[in-house]
Amino acid sequence: MKIFTHTSTISNWLTRRREKDMTVGFVPTMGGLHQGHISLIEASKSDNDITVSSIFVNPSQFDDAEDLQKYPRNHDVDLDMLNEAGCDVVFLPTVMEVYPPGMDTKVDVDMNGLDSEMEGKFRPGHFDGMIEVVNRLLEIIEPDKLYMGQKDYQQKTIVQYMIDKLGLNVSLVVGPIIREEDGLAMSSRNKRLDPKERQKAATLNKTLKELAALKGEKTVNEAKQEAFEKLKSAGLKPEYVEVCDGDNLKFISSWDESQKPVALAAAWAGSIRLIDNIIL
Ligand code: AMP
Repeated sequence: MKIFTHTSTISNWLTRRREKDMTVGFVPTMGGLHQGHISLIEASKSDNDITVSSIFVNPSQFDDAEDLQKYPRNHDVDLDMLNEAGCDVVFLPTVMEVYPPGMDTKVDVDMNGLDSEMEGKFRPGHFDGMIEVVNRLLEIIEPDKLYMGQKDYQQKTIVQYMIDKLGLNVSLVVGPIIREEDGLAMSSRNKRLDPKERQKAATLNKTLKELAALKGEKTVNEAKQEAFEKLKSAGLKPEYVEVCDGDNLKFISSWDESQKPVALAAAWAGSIRLIDNIIL
């Protein structure tokens, strides 16, 4: 597995491979790797000649300084996992390498409201930072395919929108949510849950599954309310439970308003913020 820390060297190396008609798949991560990330590496490996992953904790997408500071960083473990999964290339840049002083890396795209609710509302500025880093990494890696998880549903929807708006020459492939045995969506932040919070955390997925079962039985608003109350009773602090159209992320108030309704939720387990979603 090759490891690059500089933009110019990885870019040159990949250009030489592309000249030989090799295809490149790219899996951006912030490290703290788990099977969710590895499933994306595996998907990329089966579709492409070369799989590139990046580990970069992007400061511009954190709205919470403590979360940024406590974000798990263990390159040795991460690199071992990537190596074992058969990843070909890892990009491990510094902040200066991704955001060279003087370079304007901000992405000026009107997200048409996709970024205003849910994560966008509770984590102000998060999506501006996220599209900034994704766009910058795509510029450096120039992959044929980009792999992201359904776990971050709003994120993948916004990235697809950005790709279309900017006319970027890359296809987004979305992988399914990989879960722990009790249903908790795998996340780098789960490592910081204490045993009590870890137990409560499983309620998030359970509650979304119960919400899904209420489709057609109760109104959308009743189902959302019931889910919100269940999360509170389980000792979590819910921020939102929403049901929206899976493509345009507009909230729906009746089940037949969308061909592809999705329920999305965020809740705190102690000091750890969890998100999850289910396509209904
Ligand atoms: P992160 O390192 O959290 O920025 O995540 C990197 C990529 O892995 C993103 O595209 C995430 O959506 C994806 N991902 C994170 N957790 C999971 C999971 N449990 N299942 C599938 N994909 C995931």
